Amino acid sequence: PTDAPALEARSALETLHRVFGYDAFRGDQAEIIHQVVGGGDALVLMPTGGGKSLCYQIPALLRPGTGIVISPLIALMQDQVDALSAVGVRAAFLNSTQDAGERARVEAAYVAGELDLLYLAPERLRIPSTAELLDRGTIALFAIDEAHCVSQWGHDFRPDYLQLSMLHEQWPQVPRIALTATATEVTHQEITRRLDLSGARHFVSSFDRPNIQYRIEPKNQPLQQLLQLIRSEHPGDSGIVYCLSRASVEKTAEFLVEQGITALPYHAGLDASIRQRNQSRFLREDGVVMVATIAFGMGIDKPDVRFVAHLDLPKSVEGYYQETGRAGRDGLPSTAWLAYGLQDVVQQRRMIDQSEGDRAHRQRLAQHLDAMLALCETLQCRRVQLLAYFGETSSPCGNCDTCLNPPEGWDGTVAAQKLLSTVVRLQRERNQRFGATHIVDILLGKQTPRMTEQGHDALSTFGIGADLSEQEWRGVVRQLLAQGLLGLHGDGYGTLVLTDASAAVLDGSRRVLLRREIARPTRAAKKSAV
Ligand code: ADP
Ligand code: ZN
Repeated sequence: PTDAPALEARSALETLHRVFGYDAFRGDQAEIIHQVVGGGDALVLMPTGGGKSLCYQIPALLRPGTGIVISPLIALMQDQVDALSAVGVRAAFLNSTQDAGERARVEAAYVAGELDLLYLAPERLRIPSTAELLDRGTIALFAIDEAHCVSQWGHDFRPDYLQLSMLHEQWPQVPRIALTATATEVTHQEITRRLDLSGARHFVSSFDRPNIQYRIEPKNQPLQQLLQLIRSEHPGDSGIVYCLSRASVEKTAEFLVEQGITALPYHAGLDASIRQRNQSRFLREDGVVMVATIAFGMGIDKPDVRFVAHLDLPKSVEGYYQETGRAGRDGLPSTAWLAYGLQDVVQQRRMIDQSEGDRAHRQRLAQHLDAMLALCETLQCRRVQLLAYFGETSSPCGNCDTCLNPPEGWDGTVAAQKLLSTVVRLQRERNQRFGATHIVDILLGKQTPRMTEQGHDALSTFGIGADLSEQEWRGVVRQLLAQGLLGLHGDGYGTLVLTDASAAVLDGSRRVLLRREIARPTRAAKKSAV
């Protein structure tokens, strides 16, 4: 009598060796593959670089028929198919970039049973003929990649993902595996509900990426800070630099090239052919720095990205974690570095206030931003804070900036009171509102033309903050904003206003703990000798 599970496990391992050339499964891979090969559903939450692809590719090879992979990453389908073809897996894709002839060839191959894997863009499922086509062949499984795109709460919602519940309704006997690297509890629950996966086995891997060193520092001269990072710690390394806008992508890439660094731009405003070319160079050449908006990176599989730098504040912790997760997939030491300043907070709040969508949507965006700010201003281990966000408890990592250089906390109550009372005076006595720069000038007692013109040198708070530097005051403003003790007016100009929580600081019933602004030394000799 054959021992079916053992036989199946052997053939999974055999496929891993023979087709993919790897020695052993990692983490939950073997269990997940077992579940899907056996015809069960699976929901896989695994960090970027964890090895999600094999979890559906091997079952597709072991089960009769073709594995159908739903993926939003149209730009990457060609690369994925090429990579699979190179190891002898019969793969193809159907999306809007193909002409009718190509599509017909792929469809014929599918119907003839000549494909192991077929990648589909989610919008193909809106076309009725797609379902008919699928019925003419044999479906081994459905893999729903980037499954968090079904979550409206998340940061990457795609309406076409909502209809993926139809897979289960139309083909109840076909196993489904949904995969994502974004795994807050809320997103997890939403994926489960929307894709009807409550009967599935859920595989939740640890999201810890121990080889990544997380660092967040105040933004002073961002380009110089970036250059310093690359020159001192990552010369000749591959890396990704994220910027918020297309213009800053261009500017940053130009700057790095002037400094002799091989840097390429990538954003949605560039010609598709240029984007494609830059992406291929980044993937194939060593030591290319990709300067990009977040349009770049999802699904990019480059194992030796040594650093991910953010020159602007990400909108959410999920986004930040996914982007930084592209560093160090090979498990070697890598850096996740972020520079952020007061201007980032102002800009992000403005974007939220001006964003389309209802109040609830804006509130959600604001919550995402608040969590990101809390991470930036934390006094504890960055990794502990990050993992806590994803529902994991851990102890201080010893490798992030706050562990290596514990930030000094200081009692900022008096400073906060000085600042808030300046805002109050202007607001109550003169019905005026100003941004951080002017408020700080008042505290410092600067005789600017605007000061005299407005008569603000007569305010009782004029010059009462000379004990702190301008830089320190900006840090106070930023941290009070992050803690919700100070707010931004919705006018989009960064004018400061009081919040409901400000009163308790002003009347002395609430103490304020702040982190000291320090010019942070770069990391101690952490990288192995070269
Ligand atoms: P994810 O989709 O989770 O981000 P991938 O599936 O792209 O991750 O895998 C990340 C990298 O790890 C790839 O280069 C992949 O080939 C490699 N990999 C996956 N599983 C294994 C394994 N069992 N042994 C060795 N390398 C693996
Ligand atoms: Zn730490």
